[in-house]
Amino acid sequence: MLNKIQQKDFRIGSLFLIVIITFVATAYVRAVEKKVSNDRHRALALPSADFDSAQPSAQATEGEIGSSSEVLLDSTYTIVGVGDMMLGTNYPSASYLPANDGKNLLDDVRETLKAADVTFGNHEGAIIDKGGTPKTCRDPKVCYVFRSPERYVNHFVDAGFDVLSLANNHSGDFGAEGRKRAKAALKEAGIAYAGLAGTDETAIFERNGVKYGFCAFAPNSGTCDVRNIARAKTIVAALEKEVDIVIVSFHGGAEGAVHQHVPKRTETFHGENRGDVWKFSRGVVDAGADIVFGHGPHVTRAVELYKDRFIAYSLGNFCTYGRFSLSGPAGIAPLIELKVTKDGAFASGRIVPTYQQKQHGPKIDAQKRAIHKIIELTKADFPDTPLSIDTEGNMKKKN
Ligand SMILES: [Zn+2]
Repeated sequence: MLNKIQQKDFRIGSLFLIVIITFVATAYVRAVEKKVSNDRHRALALPSADFDSAQPSAQATEGEIGSSSEVLLDSTYTIVGVGDMMLGTNYPSASYLPANDGKNLLDDVRETLKAADVTFGNHEGAIIDKGGTPKTCRDPKVCYVFRSPERYVNHFVDAGFDVLSLANNHSGDFGAEGRKRAKAALKEAGIAYAGLAGTDETAIFERNGVKYGFCAFAPNSGTCDVRNIARAKTIVAALEKEVDIVIVSFHGGAEGAVHQHVPKRTETFHGENRGDVWKFSRGVVDAGADIVFGHGPHVTRAVELYKDRFIAYSLGNFCTYGRFSLSGPAGIAPLIELKVTKDGAFASGRIVPTYQQKQHGPKIDAQKRAIHKIIELTKADFPDTPLSIDTEGNMKKKN
């Protein structure tokens, strides 16, 4: 039996212990909440509409962090896709390289590119300091060859790029040597790549606990053929078995201002068969692709949701310095930011509108032209697609 004093001591001791346990538990919960909140801030590090700051405004973030959206936020992954990139060519002369050796080209979009789990773009050119065999063209008037210095790969690293497509009409501009150096430089930088037939058809990489598969297609020699849909489906189906999320890139379709619509048939341009990008995209989704990022027309095209998978038919010229025409619709481009579930299904998305001029890389477009263009083209080309896009660029699945 405890005497009165002992009983009192015991009670005080118990009370003290409870206070300590409560204090420790509260501190722990706070710490966990802070971590979750920080992780979200990273995931939601979206620029505000005017892109003044890389940090989201407090209200916008808190609004999205309501407890009801907790499950959604914790189980989605952010994938960013952009179109054509060529950060400067040292051929025919180094005078075609940008100011400050290209270090500032991506400044305006860097935080959005970096904040994603996976960031994709199409690299239009060889990557090699000197040498290689410049491609000779059938018609020199419509032909340009691009050779980016190997140190420019650092610009992609600094902007958070994880994976690049080499399947396009310029990765072979300086022959086998140009492609070999490109692959070596990207490998050394830890950037995945694919799209070369027979040697580098697919890439598999892991980010934040999710396994991604990537493959890329084009109608050009040495690349995986966008016109051979049966073979593309075989490649995608094999990848799908090995990974959580399959990302497919294509460089196809006719080019320019008069080819902004998806015609849903084979397109020819300059006498070349540039593929049926609609049949291709839906075919690869049927085979297991989760996201399709198209480019090649150098202008923006429509988007659609097909079987809950997101398809962009052309992301345009995103960062194409110096020798690309940027007039009219070729001067604007969307940056697509998607939230997908672990099996790749579309959860939500956002279009960040950008524009370029000769002397600078992508800048945020206050006129939001790429958003308006995608809304207009999607209404015309895919009127029944279950996707709503508002004028701020937010994309949601229609109920
Ligand atoms: Zn191209």
